[in-house]
Amino acid sequence: MYKELDLIIKAKFTKNYREGYPLISKESIFDLNKLNKEGEILNLIDNKKKFIAKAYYGMQNKGYGWVLSLKTNEKINTEYFTRKIKLAVEYRKEFYADETTTAFRVFNGEGDGVGGLTIDYFDGYYLLTWYSIGIYKLKKEILQALKSVIDYKGIYQKKRFDSKGMYLDDSDDFICGVRANSPIIVKENSANFAIYLDDGSMIGVFLDQRDVRKTIRDKYVKGKIILNTFSYTGAFSIFAALGGASKTTSVDLAKRSLEKTKEHFSINGIDVDKQDIIVEDVFNYFKYAIRKKLLFDMVVLDPPSFARSKKHTFSASKDYVNLLKEAIQITAKGGIIVASTNSASFSMMIFKDFISKAFRELNTKFKVEESFSLPKDFKVDKKFQDGDYLKVVFIRKLR
Ligand code: SAH
Repeated sequence: MYKELDLIIKAKFTKNYREGYPLISKESIFDLNKLNKEGEILNLIDNKKKFIAKAYYGMQNKGYGWVLSLKTNEKINTEYFTRKIKLAVEYRKEFYADETTTAFRVFNGEGDGVGGLTIDYFDGYYLLTWYSIGIYKLKKEILQALKSVIDYKGIYQKKRFDSKGMYLDDSDDFICGVRANSPIIVKENSANFAIYLDDGSMIGVFLDQRDVRKTIRDKYVKGKIILNTFSYTGAFSIFAALGGASKTTSVDLAKRSLEKTKEHFSINGIDVDKQDIIVEDVFNYFKYAIRKKLLFDMVVLDPPSFARSKKHTFSASKDYVNLLKEAIQITAKGGIIVASTNSASFSMMIFKDFISKAFRELNTKFKVEESFSLPKDFKVDKKFQDGDYLKVVFIRKLR
């Protein structure tokens, strides 16, 4: 049976939600102890019982749930999700039509009107990622909606919430259709990527860097020597090699990165033996490279927002300046540093301040060639700038 829970929002916050801010903060809820089960549909009202918005209760990072509609009469059911998914698919029409790219995001959480859920497309397969128990509880309706809108070979899921102690009707990542090969090979601007849909949370490639990879391949690397740090499965190295780089070096701490990077080179017809793939802490590698006076024409920096290794704790907001300073020392004059971060805790402006600071402290000069944020398929809600997390800057070292 369809049920909604009336939830009173404190006066100070009502305007914000009426104007479309989507994330429900703890501070904004007047009667917090009324919240009972994640996944319940909320009818947000003000202290005079006037309607504000429909939402759902789901615990995710800083939020208690997401606004789903500003319409009083909206029912949050299969039809509702069908409309949302239809619009999202329509918005990605050009991606569906492009045969050179067969991997992209179809539904980007609050950017497409439903926070806590993303849907990615991999050559006929769909991958749903659930970011809270709350949204996962709406799985039946969402799945029904998705199936009514698109044709699919198979549908997979990832749960990005803590499901310990929770009864779940499934443990598998596979939901329905035909099982995918492990890996399936998808295309991105004609390059090949190996995608593992049923092998833990890391599927192989971060789709949000598509435009950055293309730019590297098409504009910057011909005949150049490239260092790719925090390289994961080597996606940037692949695009550098395809763009005619004379050599790439990929460095990542994770053992599995070696095999996966080799695989990526080989499915793109690149001679693996001519590339270096190093399993090591990046910070040790920097020390080694500085001592050996190595110089690269391009250094890619794409660290996680937060990481702990045996010797180091890295936090992008605290340590990016130092990371840049290491990179600057091994970048040739006239060379490029591709500085990337997916940390939502600081803005592009602050990130550019980090860059200025690093160069200033080393008494060197730079020029910003170009910058990137999320690509078109990672649609952002204008009212929720935290969702626009990606920042990538191409920096030329002048002297
Ligand atoms: N640049 C990659 C994505 C990076 S994901 C791409 O384009 O696909 C972050 C990676 O950083 C992970 O693979 C993780 O193993 C690695 N990592 C985290 N801390 C590290 C460290 N101190 N040294 C080397 N790699 C590290």
